[in-house]
Amino acid sequence: MQHCDTLILAGWCIPVEPHDLVLPDHGVAVTDGKIVELLPTGEARKKYAPGVLVDRPDHVLIPGLVNTHTHAAMTLLRGIADDLPLEQWLKDAIWPIENRWVGTEFVRDGTRLAIAEMLLSGCTCFSDQYFFPEIVAETAEDMYMRAVVATPVLEFPTPWADNATECLNKGAELVHDRYAEHTLISSAFAPHSTATVSDETFGELRILADQLDKRIQIHLHESAQEVEDALAATGERPIERLKRLGLINSSLLAVHAVHLTDDEIRLFADTGVSVAHCPNSNLKLADGIARITAIHSAEIPVGLGTDGAASNNLLSMPGEMRTAALLAKAESEDATALPAATALRMATLTGARTLGLEEQIGSIESGKWADLACIDLMHINSQPVYDPLSQVVYAIHPQQISDVWIAGRHQVENGALAQIDQADILRRSAEWRQQINGQLS
Ligand SMILES: [Zn+2]
Repeated sequence: MQHCDTLILAGWCIPVEPHDLVLPDHGVAVTDGKIVELLPTGEARKKYAPGVLVDRPDHVLIPGLVNTHTHAAMTLLRGIADDLPLEQWLKDAIWPIENRWVGTEFVRDGTRLAIAEMLLSGCTCFSDQYFFPEIVAETAEDMYMRAVVATPVLEFPTPWADNATECLNKGAELVHDRYAEHTLISSAFAPHSTATVSDETFGELRILADQLDKRIQIHLHESAQEVEDALAATGERPIERLKRLGLINSSLLAVHAVHLTDDEIRLFADTGVSVAHCPNSNLKLADGIARITAIHSAEIPVGLGTDGAASNNLLSMPGEMRTAALLAKAESEDATALPAATALRMATLTGARTLGLEEQIGSIESGKWADLACIDLMHINSQPVYDPLSQVVYAIHPQQISDVWIAGRHQVENGALAQIDQADILRRSAEWRQQINGQLS
């Protein structure tokens, strides 16, 4: 018998790679945080003497879900300003509240709430862009959550930095130096949008990102208004401007990309740009419907994201998978568009690829980090099980996530946070609500 730290046996395993494969009665052996082997349950029982055995016969085991775009700390603003158009929502509601309240404690508490919510809904990696990225990184590390922490870059003063140069300096110093070779934390740059960053700053950012070998993510063509305003102000569409500045390349993650022309889709495909598709946020802010079928057909890597809780209002990756699949069918008037296997792939392996992490996570393959989620299908709404893949995308509630592992560490066990003080997170959230509400009324 061979030792392994943990052996997880499940009714079904969906490794994601190979694509569209469901393996009944399979197990995953994990040692030192990494996947050693995926093999049939019978063989696994004979071959491995595990330190811990986790037996989940009614469950499906999938790679942990990857949230390619969020602003974690905005959970503390969940529901504070709903049902408003994007520009008004951002400028009249969100930015004034952020300017008044955002600081290290806000970001720490909001990020803790977000990580707890993401873990409980099967997410094992999130890509964040928010103020105080050093606090986001610290919090993710403390809670043992995988994160891509992107440094925000804006010209105007924020509670975190006075100008874009300070953003770049702080980002390079605080995040990139400290987390250079970290198991869980990696970093990127996040200019907020083309409207809030000058040509000069984009130029500096491109040089810095190249030097540090970091990826760049930006809200891009999120609304028709954004594109029109840019045209009026500069005579260029935002993508055209980024192309002129040398930022349209394979290190770019275009967040939203709702309003793309055929030429822009071709440009993304030719240059290797990735897309973070946030269907629920787009729907809620009435941004329009991304042309995901055309984008996907052009072989542009598409990951899924929740966006921040103030514009969604859930950080639920199972919800994004379902909405993405349904919306693609509606948008293309083709029921075969974005099938379940593709939605799950976007939410795992392709999402990892858009963040530059596809060698490390996103599928159940030997040598990758054991970032895994287990879903209990023995619930009324997901019975009977003809096709576990279909259930995962179309017929589960996030509460059916029974177990989550990050780099082999059991973070959610039997549907509850195993290592995190949930009562404390709830208490702090209520305190923030009281404080912010007191100021608003
Ligand atoms: Zn966003």
